[in-house]
Amino acid sequence: MTEQSLFCRRVLGESGWLNNVIIQTDAAGMIRAIRPGRPDEADVTLEGPVIPGMPNCHSHAFQRQMAGLAGFGGPDGADSFWSWRDAMYSLANRLQPEQLQAIATWLYVEMLEAGYTACAEFHYLHHQPDGAPYADIDELGGRLMVAASQVGLSLSLLPVLYCRSGFGANGASEHQRRFINSPAQFLNLFARSVARAEDHPLHRVGLALHSLRASSTAQIAEVLDGEAGRAAAIHIHVAEQVAEVEQCLAAHGARPVEWLLANHPVDERWCLVHATHMQPAEYDQAAASGATAGICPTTEADLGDGFFEAGYWMEKGGSLAVGSDSNLRISPCEELRLLEFGLRLRTGRRNVLTGQASRVGFNLYQQAAAGGGAALGQPIGEIRPGYRADLVELNAEHPMLCGVGEADLLDRYVFGGGAGMINSVLVAAKQTVHNGKHQARDAAAAGFRAVMEELAG
Ligand SMILES: [Zn+2]
Repeated sequence: MTEQSLFCRRVLGESGWLNNVIIQTDAAGMIRAIRPGRPDEADVTLEGPVIPGMPNCHSHAFQRQMAGLAGFGGPDGADSFWSWRDAMYSLANRLQPEQLQAIATWLYVEMLEAGYTACAEFHYLHHQPDGAPYADIDELGGRLMVAASQVGLSLSLLPVLYCRSGFGANGASEHQRRFINSPAQFLNLFARSVARAEDHPLHRVGLALHSLRASSTAQIAEVLDGEAGRAAAIHIHVAEQVAEVEQCLAAHGARPVEWLLANHPVDERWCLVHATHMQPAEYDQAAASGATAGICPTTEADLGDGFFEAGYWMEKGGSLAVGSDSNLRISPCEELRLLEFGLRLRTGRRNVLTGQASRVGFNLYQQAAAGGGAALGQPIGEIRPGYRADLVELNAEHPMLCGVGEADLLDRYVFGGGAGMINSVLVAAKQTVHNGKHQARDAAAAGFRAVMEELAG
């Protein structure tokens, strides 16, 4: 990488749209300055509107393989999150390292083409199918890092602490053997991921706690006391399901978010993934902690989780990010639309999540991009000096953008367009998507196709 100067006809800066500027980056792709300029002074010209790339706050890469294939009813009509989880386990227990890498490579190409420029990978598939660690305990995390590096996506790899099958359990079920580590073994795995990331300048390593049901309070505290507790990003699935709330009440006499906030040092480095079932006092306290809510509307809809009260959360000043989670759909615009549309359907109102702005798309996109940066623990999600040049350039020639004023551009993109409006995507000032297509798309598709055939056979 070298220093770059990128001329932008129109770019969404920290205080609004700027016209005819040059974004100056250093050799690491970090923005040094944004100044008025001309195309003939620049290395690259971006004619279309340039917006921050969207960080994806929550992904389980391998689940892309089963997207849409778990839509069958259970034999007794009792299909639920828990029957979906059984289908997911059956896939998780068959995957080989090279298959995981091929699935992730294809998925990360799809993410870049959809305008996600970085991804928090909530990675719990650690061991061999029989539960024995690989010779390299971080073999599978390493596969994810390589996949992302090959296609130019920035990863915040979050190795997951997973110790037991449920509240009060001592160990894991047979289906969970690949996920399980003691806190001490987990800290070794974490250290290995951190060491490996030194070879991947775009990647970072954070910590994930699977859930309150998958580790005890003491196990979580032991990990937080180690190096992992100093990570810039700490994520946990929390209060996703009603059954989880009931089990937590039975085990601890407190609701999940209530228990989490009372027993662990939750601060702005934390991302509470889903946080669906909270009472008003939990919303208030979680927002005040500085944690980001990691909302995954398409997956939450698919799994029948419930609905996050984003309006109330934002009123309380809560930070919010979006994630593709089960990777059923790969589209930040779709996640944002569903977040807003769910509230409209429930309240009978329009334009609910406008925030301080008058337009929902403008507000939601910027809030989710900035919140995503916080959730990933990376200087991303905004276009300003000190941040990385992760940029999405919309297609200036797209018919749906013709004649659209600056105030409406993001709403047109979020509600009236989506990935089809993207022209190019840059991560750390390096272009990965041209004319809407990733340069490695065909090779990645071939790799994914081969895995689909192997797993079907
Ligand atoms: Zn998840």
